[in-house]
Amino acid sequence: MISKDPAGVGVPDAQRSAEDEGCVVGETPAQAHDVAAPYPDADIEDAIEGHARFRAAFEKDRAFFRDLATTKQKPRLLWIGCSDSRVVPAQITGADPGELFEIRNIANSVPPADSFDDSVGAAIEYAIEHLGIDDIVVCGHTGCGGVAALIEGDAIGDDTHLARWVDLTRPAHALIRAAGVDGPERADETAKAHVQFQIDNLMTYAIVADGVASGRITVHGWLYDMHEGRLFAYDSADGAWRDLLGEGS
Ligand SMILES: [Zn+2]
Repeated sequence: MISKDPAGVGVPDAQRSAEDEGCVVGETPAQAHDVAAPYPDADIEDAIEGHARFRAAFEKDRAFFRDLATTKQKPRLLWIGCSDSRVVPAQITGADPGELFEIRNIANSVPPADSFDDSVGAAIEYAIEHLGIDDIVVCGHTGCGGVAALIEGDAIGDDTHLARWVDLTRPAHALIRAAGVDGPERADETAKAHVQFQIDNLMTYAIVADGVASGRITVHGWLYDMHEGRLFAYDSADGAWRDLLGEGS
């Protein structure tokens, strides 16, 4: 039987044969995967059980998923958000599969176009040029560990990928420090400022700047308040952050 994991790293034999189901050519899997079977890693077991629930949902909604699989994606938004596991873009926007094209990284950062990173720029170009997306959301969040890393002086090292990446939050820290904001508000105010700086960075990509100048592309700066489950939007006209639903703050 062909294994998806030829090295067998971390995959017990029984599990491997179960995972092979559906990807074996000319051979019938010996047994169906038993999600109740003991698995040495509780985290992976949890994912497998979750996938079993998804499979049931998939079967119930086959037409929708067939449509997704057989037509080109046409997402509504390019979402640039944090990797934080607690901030789930589809959940907080009520989006279905196919609706959000996502870039997620630590502290929802957009490296300037001439910087060290191609990953974000590639996704931006693909979203605009190939998917025709005309709305870009940069969404930060309260309690962002990626933003806090520079405040707290976390052990991120001097010459690590992480140190280089969180350095992208430095302009926001400098601005908020210069504004004299301190205490409990400092981290979240820095997260807001960081979103604003990422909007500036987005404009260093010619494809974004040209699209905004012609009115084809709109860039939105949002912040997700994890305590309240609310989104706030930045208004560049007066620099204010307002509840997206107009519920006041
Ligand atoms: Zn974060």
